[in-house]
Amino acid sequence: MGTVVEIRISDPGANQYSDVVTAAFKEMERIENLMSPYVDGSDVQRLSDSGSPVAVSAETIEVLHVAARIATESGGAFNAGIGRLIQLWGFAGGQPVVPEREMIDRALAGVEPGSVTVADDGTVIKVSPHLAIDLGGIAKGYAIDRAVQILADAGIRHASVNAGGDMRLIGDRSGSPWRIGIQHPRQSGQLLARLDLAGRAVVTSGDYERSFESGGILYHHLLDPRTGYPARGCQAVTVVAENAAYADALATAVFVLGPEAGLELLRKSPAEGLIVAADGAVQVTDGLKEVVVWP
Ligand code: ADP
Ligand code: MG
Repeated sequence: MGTVVEIRISDPGANQYSDVVTAAFKEMERIENLMSPYVDGSDVQRLSDSGSPVAVSAETIEVLHVAARIATESGGAFNAGIGRLIQLWGFAGGQPVVPEREMIDRALAGVEPGSVTVADDGTVIKVSPHLAIDLGGIAKGYAIDRAVQILADAGIRHASVNAGGDMRLIGDRSGSPWRIGIQHPRQSGQLLARLDLAGRAVVTSGDYERSFESGGILYHHLLDPRTGYPARGCQAVTVVAENAAYADALATAVFVLGPEAGLELLRKSPAEGLIVAADGAVQVTDGLKEVVVWP
């Protein structure tokens, strides 16, 4: 997943859980191997390569269902069918360049809300055979959820699973809340705010994570399926929700929608959030106001 994962257990006798922690890391690796577009034979690769309905794992189906839900709720700002567009921009590696308009249009062909659906028999159908799937905006969150499940099943009641700043908590930190730092989108290494939380998922999408500069303009990996270009409304969006897959996809969706429509979506959703607009203005949903601590 291109990041460092840290698991913390704060139950008494945490050392006895080392096998459970190993199993949780293994599970995240298994999820990555199902959902990465770069792993040969992954569900996502087989889906992208095939022109006919494909049977994939129950886990991938579950993620596609959440993706479809957020796609609908966001009016298509989140779309797991933009794999070709993501490949074209090439943020994953090498030396990315701004693609030509014509190439962007071609990569967007067939991309619309509902262009990837799951049939009742559990096969995945692409409206256009040409579509490629990208679960980069949700799979990491799902992998975090799977790790949390393994820890919880083993009886662990105070833990955090942190994948590069995206995380989910189990309980509190043995009596006090977990203190979650939110990275400042324009001052590297500085915190914008802190959230004092127990038992929730916290996921951030930011334009500073994977980006390049060309002609004085910052191009980043959060793409607007309606234009084919990086979304311009936000610097960063943090979502707090019950599980990390949902929070992950919602953070990407709110980012792409921009501060106004994004805040509206957050208010309608079973989630809270913090939005840093392109001009640096910060907005927080009501439910977050009691847990946010400013530096
Ligand atoms: P990360 O935590 O890895 O930085 P994010 O959750 O912020 O990832 O999501 C960014 C990733 O989501 C991109 O790298 C890409 O794979 C995918 N993505 C980008 N734009 C969209 C979009 N509009 N809809 C769905 N997925 C997207
Ligand atoms: Mg995301």
